[in-house]
Amino acid sequence: MAQHFLEQAKADDFVAHLMKRHPVLAPHRRGRRSFAFEQIVEPSAVVLDYPRTLGSVKKFFLPARETLLEFDLGTNTATAPAIAPAPAVYLGVHSYDLAAVRRLDHNFLHGNPERNYVTRREGALFIGVSYTPDRHHFAGSVGIDPYDTTGSDIFLTKHPEGWIVDVLTPAGQDLLKGFKLATDARPKPKREHFTQHIYVPQARLNEIMAASYNHPVWDEASRNCTGCGTCNLVCPTCYCFDVQDQVAITVDAGHRERTWDGCMLRSFTEVAGGEVFRHKVAARQRHRVHRKFKYLSDATGQPWCVGCGRCTAYCTAGISIVEIVNRLVRDAEREEQVTA
Ligand code: SF4
Ligand code: SF4
Repeated sequence: MAQHFLEQAKADDFVAHLMKRHPVLAPHRRGRRSFAFEQIVEPSAVVLDYPRTLGSVKKFFLPARETLLEFDLGTNTATAPAIAPAPAVYLGVHSYDLAAVRRLDHNFLHGNPERNYVTRREGALFIGVSYTPDRHHFAGSVGIDPYDTTGSDIFLTKHPEGWIVDVLTPAGQDLLKGFKLATDARPKPKREHFTQHIYVPQARLNEIMAASYNHPVWDEASRNCTGCGTCNLVCPTCYCFDVQDQVAITVDAGHRERTWDGCMLRSFTEVAGGEVFRHKVAARQRHRVHRKFKYLSDATGQPWCVGCGRCTAYCTAGISIVEIVNRLVRDAEREEQVTA
């Protein structure tokens, strides 16, 4: 693994070099405290030192809204829009969002691969970047360090004078061709500490979740919940969607559209005939947390939460997934002490 150094003063030149090779998508400031991944037009607009983006890079592989096919009722034919691989560099991705991409890959590539996702993922190159955990991050509790390079072709570690550049794959090496980086080795900064923690490993959480179905935390944590679905929509590992046919007013043509959906939304559990099978917000909250720490984890051994903290940071009611999980952990351990 080759290591180089990128001085702060050369950061814009580095971005401009990448833009000559491929389209580059990176975090941009949007509002006072918001950041979003967007295609770079101007290198100086890129922000590499940021707490988290509102949404993750998921939106480029699984768009929030897309047409799956267009149909003509007159000729009874349907055509799917052509989607071609679009090689691109995703610059400035945090380690938890790269872990989320791996989880989405599991969901969409295994079994019956989902054509649109697979095609969009082809040719994606990742340049990861380290971050300083804020009061909502807890990725360390799910085994994802801020300096975790897994999934990156190149990884940038923040340094007071710039960035330590680790080149991790041949594709990463190729991206740097033609750009001169300093070769002096710099000591890496001390490990970052998280202030938010889930105190037990996933194997233990699986057991605790299994016994939590009737726990009062679901009602308590849902008292102020408005069922807005924000926690689903900002989550980098949520992948549920809805598919609807939109028929033209002339009733002779239309298109089939896929949009993101979320288990916290009442309409998500509404089935034919108008029946809603998870009517109470508390039941939806329980389902959401079980999707992150139980159902998919039973099959894979891994939490389906990557500890980004988005669902808590952007919750309109201040509901914290860490507090919910830790409440379950505390009560389970207290009960075990009493029965021991
Ligand atoms: S973001 Fe908060 S208020 Fe909205 S559905 Fe999720 S937990 Fe409830
Ligand atoms: S459940 Fe919350 S903290 Fe976990 S990955 Fe999703 S948004 Fe991030």
